[in-house]
Amino acid sequence: MTGLEHEADEGGAHDASLSANNFTCAICFELLLDPVVGSCGHDFCMHCITAWKDERQRANKSIQCPVCRSELISPYQPFGVCIRIRETIEKLFPEQLAARRRDVEQARLAAAAHAAALNARALSDAAGRARAAHNSVGC
Ligand SMILES: [Zn+2]
Ligand SMILES: [Zn+2]
Repeated sequence: MTGLEHEADEGGAHDASLSANNFTCAICFELLLDPVVGSCGHDFCMHCITAWKDERQRANKSIQCPVCRSELISPYQPFGVCIRIRETIEKLFPEQLAARRRDVEQARLAAAAHAAALNARALSDAAGRARAAHNSVGC
């Protein structure tokens, strides 16, 4: 994080010194979406760090920052979105952010559909005995 030149130009037309690269997630390297700042100072999208946390917990490992490996927020403590960074990004890169949000939303829907499909399969496995009786009804 380099010091920004304060040109005292309230006009806001001075975005040149700030690019979207200044606001990327340390996990997906895309524009931060709902930025969460870890206790080490790295920041991540909410969905990225949540997925990372879930993965680590599933593997029964401590939740370290994927970048610097320092211990992150306690697993029992919910992540907090940094409103200020989010608003800054919204202000500076509204279009990129909207595109990002769309992408992530689509991925989330796809994942949800996938989970639902898995769930349905698990359910139908549970009903396996019933299905065995209906072998001819293939799907
Ligand atoms: Zn991310
Ligand atoms: Zn870190």
